[in-house]
Amino acid sequence: MAKKTVRDIELKGKKVLVRVDFNVPLKNGEISDENRIVEALPTIRYIQEQGGRAIVFSHLGRVKDESDKEKSSLSVVAKRLSELLKTPVTFIPETRGKALEEAIKAMSDGDVLMFENTRFEDLNGKKESKNDPELGRYWASLGDVFVNDAFGTAHRDAASNVGIASNIEHTVAGFLLEKEINFIGGTLEHPERPFVAILGGAKVSDKIEVIENLLKIADKVLIGGGMAFTFFKAMGKEIGKSLLEDDKVALAQSLLERAGGKIELGEDVLTGKAFSSDTEVNVRSIDQIPSDELGLDIGPKTIDIFKSYIKNAKTVVWNGPLGVFEFDAFAEGTKQVALAIAELKPHATTIIGGGDSAAAVIQLGLSQGFSHISTGGGASLEYLEGKILPGIQCVDDK
Ligand code: ADP
Ligand code: MG
Repeated sequence: MAKKTVRDIELKGKKVLVRVDFNVPLKNGEISDENRIVEALPTIRYIQEQGGRAIVFSHLGRVKDESDKEKSSLSVVAKRLSELLKTPVTFIPETRGKALEEAIKAMSDGDVLMFENTRFEDLNGKKESKNDPELGRYWASLGDVFVNDAFGTAHRDAASNVGIASNIEHTVAGFLLEKEINFIGGTLEHPERPFVAILGGAKVSDKIEVIENLLKIADKVLIGGGMAFTFFKAMGKEIGKSLLEDDKVALAQSLLERAGGKIELGEDVLTGKAFSSDTEVNVRSIDQIPSDELGLDIGPKTIDIFKSYIKNAKTVVWNGPLGVFEFDAFAEGTKQVALAIAELKPHATTIIGGGDSAAAVIQLGLSQGFSHISTGGGASLEYLEGKILPGIQCVDDK
């Protein structure tokens, strides 16, 4: 379903509530990765250009008791936002009250204001995270229209997304949310074929619903990473000390049966004797994994098999690294697959969803090779599962 965006409403002179995802990593009080701030700039700039008054807010980390407040204040983010926008950003260190209300009243067209971490309200009975109706109503009362641009929290219904949306006349998507909807939602709805899904990561149990959903939609599902070994076990193979979820073997067997040949697991793996960066590396056929070794990456034959499917794809969706990429010796599978996908551009739609998968591709310096790298770990996972995300559902339909 097509959703309204900032382009579809009048912003001039309006108090525009803007929910962004500024949940950036902080090290010693400094922002160690500002990507989430950068990604939100187009929406905020657009609101300024249109003469709207942007009231920006976000969560940051978890706030469980008073002592968490200092290290999760958004003041440092407000400062950086101001530098990046090259505009003053008024920061109000409160989540409600007179000072905030007065500051909003004093805004002129094109101004930007930011208020404090929405999760400070969690100290008061989890009001933000549990979508307390009074809080959603209060925040909604501060603005005229609501722009949701926080994809990273779209899988949760909180007072700062769904709560506001249910108490305000217009809710629209910002450009970042729009991009995620178009790439992930649009691709799952109308994929150009062949559609190859690539799944990896640690555990089958984390990805059951993604596998089920993508099996329905994709033409081929390539499986690597730690989860592959539960499938090998289901095929009756010996997997040594590789990652195994015993209670998921029957499920893996049923998925293999239902997949009717759609699932491809390859033919070989890289193993070591220990889960460590300096263990000796061996290439093993999946029929010959010694009992004292564990599989830590896909092998060279598997890389070639995976590449042969990727080469012809018009759509690729990838979730989960194919090996323990954190160790150089076991990053090759993930790297070769990323390179093969990068070659498809611009003739195919290629998407990465998943926190560690995105991190792996960025770490390998290959992020330019993809059409879209999702900014939400948990949210992209649930989107790929085919779930309806409350933070998207609450946006007005076109
Ligand atoms: P994402 O965040 O992209 O959804 P996951 O969280 O499911 O991905 O999985 C990422 C983790 O899976 C990485 O830390 C990686 O080391 C691990 N992993 C990949 N292959 C293996 C393997 N063969 N054995 C154990 N862990 C693995
Ligand atoms: Mg992860």
